[in-house]
Amino acid sequence: MLDLVDLGKRSFSAFRGIAPQEQLDEVLHLAQRLRGVRCLHLNATPYGGGVSELLRSGVPLLNDLGIVTDWKIIRGDQAFFQITKRLHNALQGAPGEFSESDKATYLAHSRLNANSLSEGDYDFIVVHDPQPAALPMIGGRKGARWVWRCHIDTSRPNPEAWEFLRPFLSSYDAAIFTLPEFIPPRFPISHVAIHSPAIDPLSPKNLPLPEELARHILEWIGVRLSRPLVTQISRFDPWKDPMGVIAAYRRVRERVPELQLAMVGSLALDDPEGWDVYREIRDATANDNLIHIFTNLVGVGNIEVNAFQALSNVVIQKSIREGFGLVVSEALWKGTPVVAGRAGGIPLQMPEGTGGILVDSVDECAEAVLHLLKHPREAHRLGEQGREHVRRHFLVPRLLLDFLHLLDSLVQEKPVEPRGLALASQPSASP
Ligand code: UDP
Repeated sequence: MLDLVDLGKRSFSAFRGIAPQEQLDEVLHLAQRLRGVRCLHLNATPYGGGVSELLRSGVPLLNDLGIVTDWKIIRGDQAFFQITKRLHNALQGAPGEFSESDKATYLAHSRLNANSLSEGDYDFIVVHDPQPAALPMIGGRKGARWVWRCHIDTSRPNPEAWEFLRPFLSSYDAAIFTLPEFIPPRFPISHVAIHSPAIDPLSPKNLPLPEELARHILEWIGVRLSRPLVTQISRFDPWKDPMGVIAAYRRVRERVPELQLAMVGSLALDDPEGWDVYREIRDATANDNLIHIFTNLVGVGNIEVNAFQALSNVVIQKSIREGFGLVVSEALWKGTPVVAGRAGGIPLQMPEGTGGILVDSVDECAEAVLHLLKHPREAHRLGEQGREHVRRHFLVPRLLLDFLHLLDSLVQEKPVEPRGLALASQPSASP
């Protein structure tokens, strides 16, 4: 059996007055048409990283809207997740070879996971990222239409990795990417939609924390707020360039000696590489009491992340490759200016400098952080503009709207049987 992720109930009407009203109206209109459709989201981890973040908010909201939605996690052992992390890296362009035994391990797990799906339970199955991508080819379509949601930058994949994955994708009916540039060469799915991810402004990570409470939370874990603070929040992953962040920070500290750096990182179930990166960061920062390293494993979770994003003078996201980078929208939503790598979906969130400064190197990063620290009024203005940009484009109702549009277009192509109608709950009061 695949593990079903338990989720609370959410009310779509709670976004009234926060997200743009026209988006809310359109979501309700489409949801009415799609009521009773049954949908499964499948991915590799229930925590750590952007995909779990999206599903944790999106799945209960879809249920509230009458789309009968489950979220399940595929199973895999250490060897499987080591291979899939290499596959993930190679699809983002890293070198990497896949032996026959690697491929056999990937296929064996895909078969086991595919066998756990029953025939006819869902109208749509949405598979996130490469880890579960082979399921419909290996186990059959189970009476559902399949959508592959690729969250990573696959514009220049390592050819060997791409040739391995590509044949599995021909069993899909549609695909979703964050940017059109991410669609890899000779892509076998003709129905492609472009959706950018979004944040949930009402989740514990993003809701407005009273400043006194936020200060208390950070002081309690040892951050001294009498000193300036810059923070990067990311999985411990080389693509997020943590060593580049440390190098840039050290350069800024030559000019702002009291500056603190917090590196807040999560270790995910499907990311065994995270431990190596974590150790590398620890070694590079040992004995420096102005650098704080925190992880989800020592209890630094959503509320702490919220407080870091709200109270840092500048949030850094120095990614080299990035699918989207939810952390950028999360920081901007709190009105905090961001210095971020010009990579993947980040410039979408900070067009023409909205919200902060885009950078291409350690030097540029150091300069941009220093500039914002020295010009707090400009930093504040950028943060406020960034917040409004996020409100219009990157809050979860807009993501639901894109998703419902895709389901609707697939239903227009071929109607679904009305089997799930009886299961759909009543949506909460209209916003
Ligand atoms: N995150 C977290 N704790 C951490 C590090 C990251 O809660 O210590 C969250 C972060 O707030 C964001 C998500 O993990 O919601 C990361 O998503 P993003 O799209 O930025 O990157 P991904 O991990 O998907 O590459």
